[in-house]
Amino acid sequence: MPERTCIGCRSKRPQAQLVRCALGPRGATVSRSAAGRGAWLCSYECFLTAERRRAFDRAWRTAAPADVVRDLDQPVRTAFGGVDIRMEESPTRKG
Ligand SMILES: [Zn+2]
Repeated sequence: MPERTCIGCRSKRPQAQLVRCALGPRGATVSRSAAGRGAWLCSYECFLTAERRRAFDRAWRTAAPADVVRDLDQPVRTAFGGVDIRMEESPTRKG
């Protein structure tokens, strides 16, 4: 099982547990097969960490524009099956 290092928390995990962000000619995508350098993430939280630390720059070996990284927010979130929304309303009703 090939292992990759998450760019957010730097932990090594089996590739199957990670999400790959690739930087291609038309911007960044979440894809296992897209050409280009890959940046691997183990969680949405690690995406936020990586964004803050500019870890994508190191993974992609280039100065990734902030908006390119920001565009990954939604697809990364989706790839991890959504993120906890702490402010969500409780479905239970009183009364
Ligand atoms: Zn991680």
